[in-house]
Amino acid sequence: MSKSDHKINTRAVHEARGYVGDTGAVMPPVYLSSTFETGNPDGFDYTRSGNPNFRLLEKAIASLEGAEFGTCFGSGVSAITAVVSTLKSGDRVVAEENVYGCTYRLFDQVFGKFGVQVDYLDLSDPDNWEHIRKTAPALVWLESPTNPLLKIIDIEGISRVAQEAGCDVLVDNTFASPYLQQPLALGATLSLHSTTKYINGHSDCLGGAVLTNDADWHARMIFAQKALGLQPSPFDAWLTARGARTLPLRMDQHCANALALAEWLEDQSRVTTVRYPFLPSHPQHDLARRQMRAGSGLIVIELDCPSDQALAFSKGLTLFTMAESLGGVESLICHPASMTHASVPPEVRRAVGISDGLLRLSVGIEDPNDLIADLSAALDKL
Ligand SMILES: *Cc1c(COP(=O)(O)O)cnc(C)c1O
Repeated sequence: MSKSDHKINTRAVHEARGYVGDTGAVMPPVYLSSTFETGNPDGFDYTRSGNPNFRLLEKAIASLEGAEFGTCFGSGVSAITAVVSTLKSGDRVVAEENVYGCTYRLFDQVFGKFGVQVDYLDLSDPDNWEHIRKTAPALVWLESPTNPLLKIIDIEGISRVAQEAGCDVLVDNTFASPYLQQPLALGATLSLHSTTKYINGHSDCLGGAVLTNDADWHARMIFAQKALGLQPSPFDAWLTARGARTLPLRMDQHCANALALAEWLEDQSRVTTVRYPFLPSHPQHDLARRQMRAGSGLIVIELDCPSDQALAFSKGLTLFTMAESLGGVESLICHPASMTHASVPPEVRRAVGISDGLLRLSVGIEDPNDLIADLSAALDKL
C-alpha cells in the first residue's frame, strides 16, 4: 500500500519525513546550510533553489491537499506574488470582491503598475460568472470562505465556467485548510495557502504554499521561488512541517468549538448577526456543506452597539487576544475595519459589507465552555 492510499490524518504524520541520513533520527533536522557540495545525490545546490526542509514541507502539503505538486514560499503574500508574477502587462484577472486586504493591495499598488488589470465581482452570485465567459481573463482569483465576511463561493461551478472559457482558477484556501476543502478536486487549477494560519497553526512563523496538478504551473512556481527569492527559511519550513502533522486533529477541535460558540452567540440578544458557514442561518449553508468537511474556526458577529463599544468588548475578553491573523491554537478577535482591512479604502470596504462594528473571531482549541464564559462576561458588561 503506497502512502497516498492512507487517510489524511495518517499522511499528515508520515509525509514530511526523510533526509536523516543514517542517523536513525525519527524527525528531520533543520538544514541551515546556504550551499551544498556539487554532485550530491539529491541535487541540492543553493538554498534559494532548494533545501531539504522546504522540499519535505512541499511534499507534506501536496499530500494533504491531494495535489501532485507543491511549492513553498516565505509567506502567503510571497505565494501570491509568485502566482501574479507569471502574468504580463495587459492580462486581466477576475477576482472576488471580498479578497484578503493584502491581496487587494498587491494588485492595486504593485501589479497595477505593471499593467495587470483586475475586475472585482461578487462571485457568490452566479449571474456575475457571465463576465468570466465574456472576458476570458488570464486568471480567476477567489477565496472561500472569504475574509472577513465568510461568504462561500461555488468552486466547482466557477471552475466549470472558467474551464469552458479556457482560463485558470486560483483558490486561496487559507481559511479552510486542506483538511476541510480541496479546491483541485473541485476543478481549480491552483490552491494557495498562507501556511502562517491553520497549516502551521501555532502563530510562530510565516509561510505560503501553492498546490497544483499542472506540471507547467509547477515549473512556473519553482522558477518564481528562486528567481524572485521567495523561498522560505529552512527553520520556518521545519516549524511549519511540525505544525502540519497535527492539522487534522487541530481542525476538528477548531470546528467543533466554533460551531458551539456560533450556536450560543445566535441566542444572545446583544448579538445582531452571527455568520458561520455550518449554521443553517448562513446564506450559503448548503453549498458550504457540499464543498467543506466542516465550518472551520472563524465566526463573524455584529453587536448592537457603536464601534467604540465593539472595541471595548474585544479588549474586555481575557481568552481572546485582540490581534490580526487567525488559525493558531489560541483564540483571537479582530476588528477588520481598523485592522486587517485598514489598507482597503473605506468606500470599498463599506461597499463589500465590512461595517465599522463587525468583529471576527478566530476560535482556538481551548475548552469551548471557557470561551463561552469569557464572551458571556464581556457581553454582560456592554
Ligand atoms: C494571511 C493571509 C494571506 C497572507 O499571508 P501571509 O502569510 O500573512 O503573507 C493571504 N490570504 C489569506 C486568506 C490570508 O488569511
